[in-house]
Amino acid sequence: MPVPPSESMSRRTFVSGAAFFPLFFRLGWVEASGQDAAARLKLGYQNRLKALLSAGHLPYIDIESSCNPTKINIPWIVAQMDELGIGLMALSADPTRSQFEHGTRYDSLAGELITTYPDYFIPTGNGGQPPYLTEATNDFFNATIEEAKRVPLFLLGEYEIRHYPSPRQFKRGETDRDVTIPIDGPIGHRIFALSQELGIPFQLHYEIENDLLVPLEKMLAGYPRAKMIWCHLAQVRYSERASDYSADYVEGLIKRFPNLYFDTAFGDAQSVYPGSNQRHARVWKMFGGLREEWLELMVSYPGRFLSALDLGGDRINQLPEYDRKHRDFLSYLPRDVQHQIAYRSAWKLLFQDDFS
Ligand SMILES: [Zn+2]
Repeated sequence: MPVPPSESMSRRTFVSGAAFFPLFFRLGWVEASGQDAAARLKLGYQNRLKALLSAGHLPYIDIESSCNPTKINIPWIVAQMDELGIGLMALSADPTRSQFEHGTRYDSLAGELITTYPDYFIPTGNGGQPPYLTEATNDFFNATIEEAKRVPLFLLGEYEIRHYPSPRQFKRGETDRDVTIPIDGPIGHRIFALSQELGIPFQLHYEIENDLLVPLEKMLAGYPRAKMIWCHLAQVRYSERASDYSADYVEGLIKRFPNLYFDTAFGDAQSVYPGSNQRHARVWKMFGGLREEWLELMVSYPGRFLSALDLGGDRINQLPEYDRKHRDFLSYLPRDVQHQIAYRSAWKLLFQDDFS
């Protein structure tokens, strides 16, 4: 049984408290050109994935997980990744409200992760949540751009534009994550423009509702070079609000927008959203097994679908359970599609070439 991260940890732990900053500057992501640094990371990722494949694992690239950067036990996560055969994680920081109140506008986790464990983590920009995204918008985006000059960021987000409280938050009565930001408003435009400017994808959390689909399509059409990962494929919290959404609808989007991707972080077949009492992971049949239309879609366009765990600050110590559930989902796919969705799709998206 794995030892969970210490709840009492007040600051992220790397290697038994070893000072990070001198190491960071000695290794010199700053000195190396961005391209050199990215190429070095890519080689390490490639070697790690190959080693896991040789050892008989199906390594996946978790394209979307986040953490509370002040309470994170990185050595524990790394040990779990080795034990479970997880390839790489795009682990982003969701800086806390307390950090915000103390003046933080951006957290430097991404650079620290690739300094200490460069073969495990894909440098990812901070998650975009209130108050950072909404009350310090300029500072937040400017800090993201500054970080991209120092650290070879490969992706951005997850930006929460329309976000219902998660099942856990709902049960705890927390409403601060009930977010509504117009995707076609100023913040939405900044996100799409930033993705185009930096040439890297962003992760979007955007609940599936009929009224939200048209503005999203408008943005995708307006920013054809922006690369977007729409997180949580077919996670519909209230089916009565999403009658226009279906596997056919998603196929239409895939055909129209070549830079649109979907991650496969959704609940298991029994998972119920407490706000609606509905089983919100719509890819599943009632008693398990993937619905034909969703299976067919993923088999037809496997390059557009990405493995993801969606760990978060309040569930990071459930990594083994999330791994088990994600592997259960992958097991319903044909073998070649498993490998495509597990790591090949992310590889192509992040590095623009085929994994070899
Ligand atoms: Zn999300």
